[in-house]
Amino acid sequence: MFDLHTHSAVSDGTDTPSQLVEQAAQIGLTGLALCDHDILDGLTNSQDAGRRLGVQVLRGIELSATFDGADIHVLGYGMREDQRLLEHLAWLREGRRNRIPKMIEKLQELGVELSAGDVVAQAKGGSIGRPHIADALVAKGIVSHRDEAFERWLANDGPAYVPKPAIELGESIDLLHQAGAAAVIAHPRIRGATTVLTDEVLAGLVAEHGLDGIEADYPSHDQQVRESLHQLADELQVIATGSSDCHGAGKTGHDLGSVTTPDEVVEQLSEIVESRGGILR
Ligand code: AMP
Ligand code: FE
Ligand code: FE
Ligand code: ZN
Repeated sequence: MFDLHTHSAVSDGTDTPSQLVEQAAQIGLTGLALCDHDILDGLTNSQDAGRRLGVQVLRGIELSATFDGADIHVLGYGMREDQRLLEHLAWLREGRRNRIPKMIEKLQELGVELSAGDVVAQAKGGSIGRPHIADALVAKGIVSHRDEAFERWLANDGPAYVPKPAIELGESIDLLHQAGAAAVIAHPRIRGATTVLTDEVLAGLVAEHGLDGIEADYPSHDQQVRESLHQLADELQVIATGSSDCHGAGKTGHDLGSVTTPDEVVEQLSEIVESRGGILR
């Protein structure tokens, strides 16, 4: 079994890339995909650890995108070090950095004492985000855990939220494809995605952009949602994946390997990546 969506401290997870792979070996996963937000920096270290420990580590990314004004995530698998993609990732990360002071300003207006230095100190890799603001609030004793910071201020409808710049979902899929990657819609039925990513929209992304798969099995997707997404994937003739979206200690209910994808589906994914000219392993 594979866990096809995990995060390291290169973005907003709490484990190093090699720690994640060590845990995957301990629980007996065939492999995992490291899908840090808008960054590829953890891939080399995690693949080295994978070779050492007999765990297949797939080249992944979780790309920030926008659809109908909503913050939507698309998973890429098997992308090459493509110049256009790398430039786009650098732009996304710059947008992430520039929005931090704006969110801090909002927090300060709400009476929360926090500096940019406090937040930067929490980011161990090159892709900074709201979880690092949450970690800074935990470190200062203002909240007791990440979730509390999201509940009070940072959620998409929260008082300190500032959206980050991103490009359209369809364009993001195209960009992944031209870099040789397969594109899979991440957690299409989580709050914030579910109203915009209707079955019709997903069908349109397959028809117009060649979307390759749907993350059907996901911690917060209930059984009925999972079954309906598997059925939709079958109808659209795309793959259905399953993943934990593990963030280490940074996200409860998302333990590594708690939701998985069968080896046969990863074989199909591998064929898709090959057909797009990418490198999966
Ligand atoms: P950002 O990429 O800066 O917009 O932050 C989004 C990240 O924050 C997601 O990838 C999750 O790791 C985390 N996150 C988003 N919403 C919540 C929430 N309501 N509670 C806890 N973590 C969240
Ligand atoms: Fe995250
Ligand atoms: Fe996500
Ligand atoms: Zn994720």
